[in-house]
Amino acid sequence: KPTMSQTTLPGSDIKPWTRPAPQGYKFTNANIVDVESGTIKESTTLITTEGKITYVGPEASIPVSPTNLETVDCQGKYLCPGLFDAHVHLCAVPGFSDLSKAFGNPNDVHLLRQPYTASQMLHRGFTSIRDCGGAQLALKEAIEDGVFPGPRVFIAGHALSQFGGHGDLRGPHEATECCGGTHSNNHLGRICNGVPECMAAVREEIRCGADFIKIMGSGGVASPTDKLEHLQFTAAEIQAMVECADNAGTFVTAHAYTVKAIRHCIDNGVRGIEHGNFVDLPTAKLMAEKGVYLTPTLIAYAQMASERWKNYLPIESQTKNSIVLKSGLEALRVASEAGVTMCYGSDLLGPLGSAQTHEFALRSQVLSSLEILRSATVNPAKMMGCADALGQIKMGFHADVVILNKNPLEDVTVFDKPDTHVLGVMKDGRVYKSRWDALLEDGQIPVRVQ
Ligand code: ZN
Ligand code: ZN
Repeated sequence: KPTMSQTTLPGSDIKPWTRPAPQGYKFTNANIVDVESGTIKESTTLITTEGKITYVGPEASIPVSPTNLETVDCQGKYLCPGLFDAHVHLCAVPGFSDLSKAFGNPNDVHLLRQPYTASQMLHRGFTSIRDCGGAQLALKEAIEDGVFPGPRVFIAGHALSQFGGHGDLRGPHEATECCGGTHSNNHLGRICNGVPECMAAVREEIRCGADFIKIMGSGGVASPTDKLEHLQFTAAEIQAMVECADNAGTFVTAHAYTVKAIRHCIDNGVRGIEHGNFVDLPTAKLMAEKGVYLTPTLIAYAQMASERWKNYLPIESQTKNSIVLKSGLEALRVASEAGVTMCYGSDLLGPLGSAQTHEFALRSQVLSSLEILRSATVNPAKMMGCADALGQIKMGFHADVVILNKNPLEDVTVFDKPDTHVLGVMKDGRVYKSRWDALLEDGQIPVRVQ
């Protein structure tokens, strides 16, 4: 049981939600899912202390067992690294019946709904997410600080787009000169044209806490005036943005569908491709050679094409959506054959977000369970430069653990039924969700009395 000391942490008077370090746990008799080797380590003990994994191995070899550990017998259970969704948009909140309302609502409206979305993701098993446009630094910090529960967030700030690009939400009859930045109601994107504006935009996003830079490198489904096959940004613009990101120790990832757009982006230094639905084998091989990551997001198209959500998209987007959906599974097959490092992405907007785990089922039509599980653990950890801290159950890593009642290496779609199979979700050593009597939640903030 957590002991809540009120006075031990410096600054806890100023930030009254600050909790003491999480209690230690000892999970015994566990089946540990090793996502690197693709094997199960049976009858293993896992110890977490102060939010980190401090021991993984046989019970008999524990060097000095720390005291006051909460022991949980995990006989017949599987302990898997916390999941990582590498393409989300927290700002596109639920509560509106069509896409145009998911974006463009006042700042306070979407901000106040994001804690709901963030905690839902965490309770599904996602302990880390990468927001590809729209999430703000204050949100990331609030979760980090423990003001409310949610996954660890990596942010792009605003996604950068040219005039008439995928981040420009104006229709063809709107004559307003769009600033597209933080002063408009376009929370997802920022508009920049020409090398100086592109450089300024990257520097501004970095200043505002971006962990990486997201650019719109081709036409998109949800944007009103561009065609899917359009290239967006010139070589000089992309190179300038890549250089500015590189100067700040980070990288650029690009929204891109076609072979031409993917090549335009990676030839000019982009290190990640989002969606990539039309990738062909030679281009996929080039991506693998250059170490470019691919984050497909098939579930977004599948949901938008479903009977349930068929009116969510405006008509001009529905046609584009059905085109990219059709080629999506083939792109996965091609990328896998070429050896491209793939990451898990959902990209679901508004109320469609509740389908976040369906991507597991979709990908399992063409990929192995291990390959899919890697895409939701080690691969995105590596992409974000956290290969030594996230994505595996290993000594010294963050204690991000999902407890399952089935082996995900045999069937990765167990993640698609969190209420049935995900018994517990631990992030940084705290249990934020339990669906199992043997495990108590301890992620709450205790009532504080001065
Ligand atoms: Zn996109
Ligand atoms: Zn997106």
